[in-house]
Amino acid sequence: MDSLLDFPRSAVHTSTEARLTSLFEMGRGEPRPYGRPMNLNLEPIYKSYDSFSINIYKKGHFREIAKEGVKMPLLNHDINLQEKKVVIADVDDTICETCHVISPEMAGQISAMIREGYVFAFISGTKQSYLLEMISSQLKEQHFLLATTGTQCLEAHPEPKLVYNHTLQEEEKKEIMEALEKLTAKFNIQTLTTTEDQIQDRESQITLSAIGRKAPLELKKQHDPDGSKRKVWVEFLKTVLDQHKYEMNIAGTTSIDITRKGMDKEWGIREFARYYGIPLHSIIFFGDKIHPGGNDYPATKIVDCMAVKNPAETLQKLQQLQKINNLNLEDQDLAR
Ligand SMILES: [Mg+2]
Repeated sequence: MDSLLDFPRSAVHTSTEARLTSLFEMGRGEPRPYGRPMNLNLEPIYKSYDSFSINIYKKGHFREIAKEGVKMPLLNHDINLQEKKVVIADVDDTICETCHVISPEMAGQISAMIREGYVFAFISGTKQSYLLEMISSQLKEQHFLLATTGTQCLEAHPEPKLVYNHTLQEEEKKEIMEALEKLTAKFNIQTLTTTEDQIQDRESQITLSAIGRKAPLELKKQHDPDGSKRKVWVEFLKTVLDQHKYEMNIAGTTSIDITRKGMDKEWGIREFARYYGIPLHSIIFFGDKIHPGGNDYPATKIVDCMAVKNPAETLQKLQQLQKINNLNLEDQDLAR
């Protein structure tokens, strides 16, 4: 491959394996064969997109680099969006409204980007059957599902194929279930649906959905909008479950996800990247809970992240990401 910037075009119609091999290759070798400096140059983007507004968190620390209408200096070591060819996105409230299927607009945008050579993976505390329904039923290009916080990886199209799986032991499940029963009794947390829908065994993760996963969305949104109830619950859980053994994270609208320690989104992303040999600098993560205590926060420790409020903002930012690369491809063409 002559240039990283050739990647999106040249990779169209190649198999996933070939695409991922190309990604691996592009992580090697110095100096990089760029026609332009490595850093993202905001100037042409501002000229083209007046309302360009983006919150990017560089790996390892938070940094808001640009706000709507405000130009901020970018250092050379800042995030290079041109090298982001792998999009890993949270699902609930990032790609889809909680527990809803992906919108036709979002599916269309992602499909177009996959056809241009981007790789998409969706990581969620949700189990694989729900993700197949929420995303893969509508998205007809090859993509990956990282179910139950990435402990299960599926190649989801054309036929779902389980790539790897790391599930909880029976005694671990029992320990977690008992802790959650103590929690629901102590705080009188009542489900509006069924007990199985409130405390869900997702094989590699146990999830509490306070009023039930299938409770009406409006009621779920009102239940704990700022997560303050669940912060108290997590503190209680830490007194009855060994916090050196288990991870307890606030997720979705009413949920707490419990996994083995270390099996958070950082782990899920690392495992996916390791398995397919994807360089971490080529990954950009999208999430609506990129704040300490949120279930997307661990992603900031390993890859560059983009914070979004909802699926509408994700759609807008994906369009911008796609345009940045097309803009630079055009600039390169002009420079020849
Ligand atoms: Mg989310």
